[in-house]
Amino acid sequence: MSDPRSDSNISEVTITFPDGKTRLVASGTTGLEVAKSISPSLAKRTVAMSLDGALADLADPITRDVSIKFVSRTDPEALELIRHDAAHVMAEAVQSLWPGTQVTIGPVIDNGFFYDFAKEQPFEPEDIPKIEKKMAEIIARNAPFTKQFWSREKAKQVFRDKGETFKIELVDAIPAGEDLKIYYQGDWFDLCRGPHMTSTGQIGRAFKLMKFAGAYWRGDSNNPQLQRIYGTAFATEEELKDYLHRLEEAERRDHRKLGREMDLFHFQEEAPGSVFWHPKGWTLFQTLIGYMRRRLDREGYQEVNSPDMMEKHFWELSGHWENYGENMFTTVLPDERVFCCKPMNCPGHVQIFKHGLKSYRDLPLKIAEFGKVHRYEPSGALHGMLRVRHFTQDDAHIFITEDQIMEECLKINDLMLSIYNDFGFEDIFIKLSTRPEKRVGADELWDKAEKALQDVLDEVTKRSNGRIRTALQPGEGAFYGPKLEYVLKDAIGREWQCGTTQVDFNLAGRLGAFYIDEHSQKKTPVMIHRAMFGSLERFTGILIENYAGHFPLWLAPLQIVVAPIVSDANDYALEVVEKAKAAGLRVESDLRNEKINLKVREHSLAKVPVILVVGKREAEEKKVSIRRLGSQDQSVMGLDEALASLSTEATPPDQKKPS
Ligand SMILES: [Zn+2]
Ligand SMILES: [Zn+2]
Repeated sequence: MSDPRSDSNISEVTITFPDGKTRLVASGTTGLEVAKSISPSLAKRTVAMSLDGALADLADPITRDVSIKFVSRTDPEALELIRHDAAHVMAEAVQSLWPGTQVTIGPVIDNGFFYDFAKEQPFEPEDIPKIEKKMAEIIARNAPFTKQFWSREKAKQVFRDKGETFKIELVDAIPAGEDLKIYYQGDWFDLCRGPHMTSTGQIGRAFKLMKFAGAYWRGDSNNPQLQRIYGTAFATEEELKDYLHRLEEAERRDHRKLGREMDLFHFQEEAPGSVFWHPKGWTLFQTLIGYMRRRLDREGYQEVNSPDMMEKHFWELSGHWENYGENMFTTVLPDERVFCCKPMNCPGHVQIFKHGLKSYRDLPLKIAEFGKVHRYEPSGALHGMLRVRHFTQDDAHIFITEDQIMEECLKINDLMLSIYNDFGFEDIFIKLSTRPEKRVGADELWDKAEKALQDVLDEVTKRSNGRIRTALQPGEGAFYGPKLEYVLKDAIGREWQCGTTQVDFNLAGRLGAFYIDEHSQKKTPVMIHRAMFGSLERFTGILIENYAGHFPLWLAPLQIVVAPIVSDANDYALEVVEKAKAAGLRVESDLRNEKINLKVREHSLAKVPVILVVGKREAEEKKVSIRRLGSQDQSVMGLDEALASLSTEATPPDQKKPS
């Protein structure tokens, strides 16, 4: 309104381009007209526009002052349009192949799109190529997407005449005052909020239908069942190929499959979301704990253990019952007292802190626990070890004064990055999650805590020279404080959130913890909650998938199998096993009366990194023939020399002497 021009001439609007240049155009000029006036080639390659950051149809009239960006189909913003347009085309293809099928909704999702159909006969796998072929025809027709505004009455009448009862419900669900838009592609049309690209041809050829699934209308199992088709689409065939390759890789690396083949763990119905660790899996788990314990010990943490169950009133006091109760397992004892399995270790650690008077000289006080926590997750959300109901955190709480926040958070950050490096994770993404709606504590405390973590994040960014990516996630913090979340990128580019650092001005005070400051006054300590692996179970699952089961020697639960070629070498094989054990290696023998090729094949499937093959000649010469997982080569070496080299290789990274 400060612009005098808008008073004098309301029929013109100012559009601002990404480079900051502006232009005055008549109100009602369409995006396409603006693009054409700049250059015909720009108009040709533009598929949509972004007005003040929101995607819009290129044919939309511009009726207010806006910043405008023209979007071409290879721009990142266009990807969701390509997928959304592809969903419309898929719906047309299905209706033309199976007349009478009703279309319901078809949104864009992560990595693709789906559309839900009401159709009597179930889809068959051989329908996929048919639908894809029809989609290719519709795309090749290259009909423009055009938009019409309909009245509710007209829309309901038209859909009623077509027998599209679900669409009538959708029309009714559109809030009063909101436009009802119909998008046409040729003769076919759909109720849709839009926007769309200029024509179906812009979708291109890089699309693929992935699978069928059952779904309920509006996700409610009391409603009719629908058939869902999932698909994906990309701007280029190259990107589609990469994506399909990543999916294949993810399947090959699936920790549930590898966990079976490597005999690490299993799940069963009676304990949903709980791991049955087998000896080898537990060895891996303990190797991780041993590693973390050494790292924490060096940083001055003290390890403790706190009760798995405590009375409900205690969790009411901590705020967990009110804010986290729906995720907590409870049990009623014969004396009718209600107990809760701990969903977090924090309140227990506060009790340990409170035991004995603490002074400012005791701070920072670092309490660590490999605590098993229990959180109810709906069964549909459970996923192998990546999402479980009972898991072990490498948890710690650091009790500090307000002045120590920055220093301690930076120390945690350095330790965290160094630990991730030891597991080969170098691409780290840190997100700051701020106050959620459901929370405890005054807003001033939240202001302070969020400011502290923002400062930490700025410092970390500065120190890393921009190598570390950061982002803000408003509303995603814990109920007692904001947090930094550390996200790792794995070998096939997937991101996993693992570590967290949370600054908490609330919990210690709620549970009556204090320390005596330098002026002999009682003060409430600030608590930092932090975990680095996060959940040991989940981290194990991530590691299995990241390494595709090919663990570095120090992590491999079974490092060596000694396999004699002939039974004459059995005694020597046992001698090798004893010597390897004495050198601290995890080793087994395979004395079965089987062909060596079969033994090698089986141990390779179980991802044993090293097979020492011994025959008569090796026994006589005190040598071993070394076979590495994934390689056909064998190298023969003296036994002592081989074991010395293997035990050097098997030394955990934190125990390697600097060379
Ligand atoms: Zn749509
Ligand atoms: Zn905690």
